[in-house]
Amino acid sequence: MTVSTTHTPATDLGFLLVKHPDRVQQFEMPAGQAWVMFPEATAERCTAALLLDIDPHTLTSARNRAKAPESAGLGQFVNDRPYAASSMLASALGKVFRSALRGASKDRPELAATPIPLEIAVPVLRCRGGAEVAARLFDPLGWATSVTPIPLDDGWGDSRYVELRLTGTLRLSDALNHLYVLLPVLDDAKHYWVAPDEIEKLIRAGEGWLADHPERTLITRRFLSHRRALTGAALARLAEEHRRLAELDERPEPDTVDEPEEERRQPLAVQRRESVVAVLRELGAARVLDLGCGPGALLADLVRDRRFTEIVGADVSTRSLEIAERRLRLDRLPERQRDRIKLWQTALTYRDDRLRGFDAAVLMEVIEHVDPPRLAALEDAVFGHAAPVSVLVTTPNAEYNVHYELAGMRHHDHRFEWTRAEFAAWSARVAEHYGYTVRLHGIGEHDPESGAPTQFAVFTREVSA
Ligand code: SAH
Repeated sequence: MTVSTTHTPATDLGFLLVKHPDRVQQFEMPAGQAWVMFPEATAERCTAALLLDIDPHTLTSARNRAKAPESAGLGQFVNDRPYAASSMLASALGKVFRSALRGASKDRPELAATPIPLEIAVPVLRCRGGAEVAARLFDPLGWATSVTPIPLDDGWGDSRYVELRLTGTLRLSDALNHLYVLLPVLDDAKHYWVAPDEIEKLIRAGEGWLADHPERTLITRRFLSHRRALTGAALARLAEEHRRLAELDERPEPDTVDEPEEERRQPLAVQRRESVVAVLRELGAARVLDLGCGPGALLADLVRDRRFTEIVGADVSTRSLEIAERRLRLDRLPERQRDRIKLWQTALTYRDDRLRGFDAAVLMEVIEHVDPPRLAALEDAVFGHAAPVSVLVTTPNAEYNVHYELAGMRHHDHRFEWTRAEFAAWSARVAEHYGYTVRLHGIGEHDPESGAPTQFAVFTREVSA
């Protein structure tokens, strides 16, 4: 199996996998050896290969030790295991890339949390049910799936093996967890005895994607080797997770939870959206980006107004984008309406060509979620690279927090909250650096001492006619 990225510097893949691109490393497995090597490692493109070398003799004795109920006889020695990717490759992946599967990275923590362009190739995979099953499993996870059946010799038709290629922009840990679960599912023949702790493995590896997967029943049944009791228990846990995720839909807006009573009656979040939409209209913006759109409350307001002809919601969180998609009921809109709206997964601290050329970009309650050392990267990506005509930024006013009963900041994920002077200084510096003029406003009840609860900056670039 190979994993490639073109995220520059691509050799960072070595940090994420905790394997040095210059070395060939060997790992002992119950039925042979696993090797990790990097057939290519340049700044532009890097590929890591996981090679599993299975020894049929070790496999047989390992099997006997595990008391697996396999049929005796020649089948133990003459089979496809050494030659095709199977559940054994998934076990090797689990062992060799353990910390990458967990999404942990000592050297590149931020990159580990960021979706990056990935290509995964499994040259020979045993695939029960054929190419169509592989696509049904990988497509809903954001992969472009290409499955090529491998023909038998001399016109005997297709074998039960396929070549699998996946392309997509995902976090490496998500990609590895997909493979860890779905390779054995496609193989559908576990090489070891399936014990109850397999449920834990499945739930852990499936966190965040399995509960909502349209094929979760098939995946669970096959992963647990069709053991009815285990499958039932696992599906019950997934159903609970599914309910919990659905409830997120009903949750209050993330940044309103700590705001006081009177704000909740005319919620500050509503006032923020109204102010943002009013300014977008005033600017005559038609093609609008909502950067860090979250669950899509602003998008829902924008969709209602026909003057916004192209509306893009972008966020790093697939979970939020899924909620936004449901909230907007995209599947129920007529095609012409649906074409106005797009939801893109992206990390705002990296340049993204898709975001160029828009009339306006909104960063509503987003910058305070970015680590201060990464803020310059966001400035470059938004003001420098995407470079819309206008940029609308809202952020909390830290001075106003005296009106709330707060132990710390307004939201646990805030990395900072600025005073009016701090926000003004930041806005002035960014405007100057990227060639914009900036106007500052307040949103919400204005207090003579501490100002308004939300700060609002409107940046506009001069455009030659
Ligand atoms: N704009 C929305 C959501 C604000 S919460 C609203 O006002 O309701 C902040 C959002 O920014 C979250 O959805 C979070 O996933 C997103 N976000 C934070 N850092 C990001 C980054 N580096 N790239 C893209 N999105 C980011």
